Amino acid sequence: MQIDLSGKTALVTGGSRGIGRAICTGLAESGARVIVNFRSSAEEAEGLCREIELAGGEAVCRQGDVSDADEVEALFQFVESEFEQLDILVNNAGVIKDTLLLSMKLSDWDKVMDTNLRSAFLCSRLGAEMMFRRRSGKIINMSSVSAIRSSRGQANYAASKGGILSFTRACAAELAGRGIQVNAVLPGFVETDMTRRVMSRAGKQTLERIPSGRFGQPDDIAGLVVFLASPLADYITGQAIPVDGGLSI
Ligand code: NAP
Repeated sequence: MQIDLSGKTALVTGGSRGIGRAICTGLAESGARVIVNFRSSAEEAEGLCREIELAGGEAVCRQGDVSDADEVEALFQFVESEFEQLDILVNNAGVIKDTLLLSMKLSDWDKVMDTNLRSAFLCSRLGAEMMFRRRSGKIINMSSVSAIRSSRGQANYAASKGGILSFTRACAAELAGRGIQVNAVLPGFVETDMTRRVMSRAGKQTLERIPSGRFGQPDDIAGLVVFLASPLADYITGQAIPVDGGLSI
C-alpha cells in the first residue's frame, strides 16, 4: 500500500514551524499541493516552500491569523481563487500560555482558546463548505494529550484541546454522510519551539513519564496526519488518536 495524494490540495494552519512544518513536508512528499499558513514567521514559511519546491513538490505560503474571522475569510478566498478545491485541512496552529489558575489572566485564556479552538471552528466551517461540493475531504484537528491527562498550569490549554476532541466528534457525525472524515491527533511531548522551555526546565522528569523513553519528533506526528489525509483512512472518522510514546496509557 502506498500513500498517493497527487491532485489533492491541502491547507495546514501554523505550517511554518514545528509539527506543522513536518506535516507540510510529509503531505508534499506524498504529492499534495500544500498551502503553508503562518501568522508571523514569514521567513520560515518561505524557506519551507522553497525547500518543498526544490524537492519537486508544490507549496505556497499564505499569511493569516486563524483566530481572526476576517483573516480566515481572506485565507479561504485565496484557496478558492488559486486552487478551486480543498481536499485536506489540517487545523494545527496553536499556542500555550501556561500559568496557574489563580494567576491566569482573561487575556491568557482568550488567546489560547481563540488560537487553538476558535480557529478550528472558523477554518472547518469554510473548509467543509468547499469539501461539501465534491462530497469528499479530510479534516485533521491537532489536539494534545493535555486534553486527557491534566498538568498544572494548563487550564486554558487543556480546555482548548478537550474542546477540539468534542468539536471533532460533532463535526465527524455531521459530515460523514457527505464523504468528509474528521479526526483528531493527540501529540505527547514533541520537541518544538512550543515545548523548549518545559524541556529545559523539567526535561528529565518529563522523559521519565514516557514509556518509549524519548520525546516525540515532529515527523512522528506528521506520519499519522499523512495517513489520515489519505484514502487509506476513508473509513476512520471521529477518532482521537494519541501519538505520545505511550504517555497516555
Ligand atoms: P510551534 O512550534 O510553537 O508552532 C506553532 C505554529 O502555529 C507556528 O507555525 C505559528 O506560526 C502557528 N500559529 C500560532 N498562532 C497562530 C495564528 N493565530 N494563526 C496562524 N498560525 C499561528 O508549536 P508546535 O509544537 O509545532 O505545535 C503545533 C500544534 O501541535 C499546536 O496546536 C500544539 O498545541 C499541538 N501540540 C504540540 C505538542 C508539542 O509537544 N509540541 C504537544 C501536543 C500538541 P507563526 O510562527 O507564524 O506565529
